[in-house]
Amino acid sequence: MPETPLSRITSLDALKAATMACRECPIGEFATQSVIGEGKLKARLMLVGEQPGDQEDLAGHPFIGPAGKLLARALAAAGIPQEQTYVSNAVKHFKYELRGKRRIHKSPSQREISACQHWLEDEIALVKPAALVALGASAARSLIGRAVPVMVNRGQWLPRPDGREVLVTLHPSALLRVDAEDREPAFEAFVADLRQAQRLFAR
Ligand code: SF4
Repeated sequence: MPETPLSRITSLDALKAATMACRECPIGEFATQSVIGEGKLKARLMLVGEQPGDQEDLAGHPFIGPAGKLLARALAAAGIPQEQTYVSNAVKHFKYELRGKRRIHKSPSQREISACQHWLEDEIALVKPAALVALGASAARSLIGRAVPVMVNRGQWLPRPDGREVLVTLHPSALLRVDAEDREPAFEAFVADLRQAQRLFAR
């Protein structure tokens, strides 16, 4: 993981303003706005996804669409109090391709994830979470600093260069694409992954 230069970002408002103005990769030009994370400062757990989706881009809030609702349900099932978490994304602008009038999610490239990584590091420095969850491969790459095969490492804690642990699992949007008959077992497996973080909230 490259060393982050000394940052002048000292608040989430400053992070929002700086990412709004950022054009360090091509994604920012075409999005409505940047979307940074929300939740509790000094959270026991910070969950990091890939990038804002269509609804998040329009509203300016993370995880408010179908994947966010599924994540909320899974956190509740895993016994993790959502109000004690912080949720964000590895990439702060929405990348998409137009199909007619529809904006279809497009995965950020490795270069784009790397370009946005210093903003995520600023956010982690502000939030000061005890531990993190990587939701999918893009988040795992950004948080851990190398490619992580998610299906091999799901449900496991991997160390970050800063010493914090990262629990690896799927992005909830992957569960939305599962065939109907496989959806319940896939959800249960996702909850089982998240349950690995439940100990952080034990009294
Ligand atoms: S996605 Fe990240 S690096 Fe790219 S323009 Fe937006 S804030 Fe900057």
